[in-house]
Amino acid sequence: MAAALLPVDDALALLLSGAAPLGSERVGIADSGGRVLASPVQALRTQPPFDASAMDGYALRARDVAAAPATLNVIGVAPAGKPFPGSVGPGQAVRIFTGAPVPDGADSVLIQENTRITSEGLVEVLEPVRMGANIRRRGLDFAEGEALLPAGRVIDATALALAAAANHAELDVVRRPLVAVLATGDELLAPGSVVGDGQIIASNTFGVALIARQAGARTLDLGIAPDDRDAISAAIDRALDVGADIIVTSGGASVGDHDLVRDVLASKGGDLDFWKIAMRPGKPLMAGTLAGRRIIGLPGNPVASLVCSHVFLKPLVAKLAGRTHSADIRTGVFGGPVAANDQRQDYMRARVVEADGQIVATPSAVQDSSMLRTLADAGALVIREPFAPAARTGDPCRLLMLR
Ligand code: AMP
Ligand code: MG
Repeated sequence: MAAALLPVDDALALLLSGAAPLGSERVGIADSGGRVLASPVQALRTQPPFDASAMDGYALRARDVAAAPATLNVIGVAPAGKPFPGSVGPGQAVRIFTGAPVPDGADSVLIQENTRITSEGLVEVLEPVRMGANIRRRGLDFAEGEALLPAGRVIDATALALAAAANHAELDVVRRPLVAVLATGDELLAPGSVVGDGQIIASNTFGVALIARQAGARTLDLGIAPDDRDAISAAIDRALDVGADIIVTSGGASVGDHDLVRDVLASKGGDLDFWKIAMRPGKPLMAGTLAGRRIIGLPGNPVASLVCSHVFLKPLVAKLAGRTHSADIRTGVFGGPVAANDQRQDYMRARVVEADGQIVATPSAVQDSSMLRTLADAGALVIREPFAPAARTGDPCRLLMLR
């Protein structure tokens, strides 16, 4: 009897076991957007660093205008960045602008809309002012030493601006994994080539690398190696030389005569497992390590290589990159009938539309793992558990959203 196939979840757990976020590096604040904080960010300063005006108007003493209307003598101007050097005394006001320090002696800011300048150049206050009005107190936003952002936070626009406001010129971020991607096969040519007899264009690695980048990796395209030990070996050496954290190969990894990738990796001391996963597409998957780097050997069939990248490579990259990965899984309904499933977990390409607040998923009639167009047309993969019974139109289904 054939050996039992490895369930997808078990394969993923094996792949992720022992994977941990890579070390950290310091990057300039301007380059840190989208990265993951490796250490918490603390405030290096207090913001605002002084009691600041929140409005354009007049800094004054509230008690002087308690019986408004009242007139005050304007003794100076306080624009942002140029504190007024003197002090506001009884019957006095300072013209003030948003962001300027509130001068000594003043306790409130009156908005300019509630004033009138008299012919003598005095300011007439039309209404009383609430004590402390329109003043942002020192430290309103944050105080020096306070924790602002936790480690693990993805640096989005708001986190970036906050870290900058807290006076960080550089941030400590998790190193992005370098994923080196190699296509193998005598039949393969780069896009744009003149295609001869028996040849096809190598497509997988472009999609695989993009999936890795979207999960937080940097990528290196190792190009195409023919089915030749020396060529594959040279490409792997290059990946090791440049410090790849994950080496991804596509093709040449099943049990055919020309499947040399595993041999080459093993000859270099690689510790490799060859998994038969209960999954369609993508039953064969090679996984292991070589010289401390992670190896993933994807099947050559284009759809299998991309689906396996979504299911396995993405979470691995995310883990090394310090990100929390969660696939976008939703519940929808079938848009057409599907047959009962066998022992392999199926990832069926399906077109999706929204109707009556539901996602209606209609699997393509033909699910051959070479067909990229149906994958590009698919808004989701319908995940069918092993041995799922036949389903009818309108029955619920689990979707791995692709777009
Ligand atoms: P293999 O795993 O090498 O036996 O390849 C399985 C199938 O996938 C064959 O039809 C190959 O021509 C095809 N294939 C392998 N690698 C690629 C690639 N990088 N791009 C497109 N098709 C590929
Ligand atoms: Mg091949």
